[in-house]
Amino acid sequence: MASTSKQGPPEIGGSLDPRTIRADFPILSRTFADGRPLVYLDNAATSQRPLAVLDAMGDFYRTSNANVHRGLHVLSEEATRAYEKARITLSRFIGASEPATCLFTRNTTEAINLVANAWGRANLKPGDRVVLTEMEHHSNIVPWQLAAEATGAEVLFAPLTPDGRLDLKALQNLLDERVRMVAFVHVSNTLGTINPAAEIVAMAHQAGALTLVDGAQAVPHMPVDVAAIGADFYAFSGHKMCGPTGAGMLYGKREHLEAMPPFLGGGEMIEQVRKEGSTFARIPNKFEAGTPAIAEAIGMAAAAEYLQGIGMERLRAHEHDLVSYALEQLDSLDGIRIFGPRDERAGLVAFNFTHLHPHDISTFLDQDHVAIRAGHHCTQILHDVLGQPATARASFYLYNTREEVDALVDALRKALEFFG
Ligand code: PMP
Repeated sequence: MASTSKQGPPEIGGSLDPRTIRADFPILSRTFADGRPLVYLDNAATSQRPLAVLDAMGDFYRTSNANVHRGLHVLSEEATRAYEKARITLSRFIGASEPATCLFTRNTTEAINLVANAWGRANLKPGDRVVLTEMEHHSNIVPWQLAAEATGAEVLFAPLTPDGRLDLKALQNLLDERVRMVAFVHVSNTLGTINPAAEIVAMAHQAGALTLVDGAQAVPHMPVDVAAIGADFYAFSGHKMCGPTGAGMLYGKREHLEAMPPFLGGGEMIEQVRKEGSTFARIPNKFEAGTPAIAEAIGMAAAAEYLQGIGMERLRAHEHDLVSYALEQLDSLDGIRIFGPRDERAGLVAFNFTHLHPHDISTFLDQDHVAIRAGHHCTQILHDVLGQPATARASFYLYNTREEVDALVDALRKALEFFG
């Protein structure tokens, strides 16, 4: 049987010590030819993986690798048990009471496409509306645009306040009987805004609409309870929460998942296949056509156990400390413009300088091995609203330190001097 974790995370209690945590992440001890270390501040794009995750996946391949749900031999039974145990672990991690309502997908993007296709195409019709927000990632825009084109529905965008929060009054004004779905990001990957998910879900339900929450930047960084939020659908990715690429999850309320037609067809998702047509398996299998990413699902669950061992409240407090410190330090730089709310924000910060292109900043910082991201971060609509074609973004995680924030600020100061 594949073990899920060899290495115990640090003990719960007190504030999180990133130095202890860093020892769990082999890549963080990497140094470059000049002897200097990596300063990895691109966690919103993807996080690094601890040994507990690498070992869980390696152990599975070394001891129990087989396809799931099919064979009657020992390895297949072990693989199936480990895969279904991963589903149980992840369902608990997000507060879902029934593991069967938690579907493995490749990532957040596929989870949202599943809903936009399976629910959207079956339920939307001309005149219906899907309400998004101006801070959505392309993953929560394009699938809805495609579904709207296919069904004659319309996509609307709720606007933001000047400080980068969702304008709840304006959202309320959009909510009428034509709105069938409100799909919104829990935590913005560009602004760091933490949306009041339960409140938005309640507003949407009041208007008779369903809700989908894009939790790609929330589940890795703060405690999330889908039952308390009340969302109809909630999507997230493994690779942003210390897990592998290739595994993500869609939580959905049982009644919706049961009523929806399948998204992809093939093996694993059927009950009977006949020349006249096919009948489908029950959830979750109905939505998991083909051989799933088995080792990745196991790795994603090992990541959830690792994070849980550290404590999501402690992790959130640590990131809050880092981003508050970063904001303070960044404020001292000439000509900087920082986007998003000042307080109650997630552990990332997007910024620009008056006469410097973010790509130049990012390339310059790379010489000091400070990894940040520059571009539109897949939020082009938001960047249009901000009047910026691109921004630079530093994003923190549990293993980052105040010294790394200092390295970022020092490298930025050097870039400002260099570019004059
Ligand atoms: N939503 C948000 C808010 C994101 O930050 C991202 C990743 N940048 C996604 C969706 C898409 O995630 P994935 O690429 O894992 O599908």
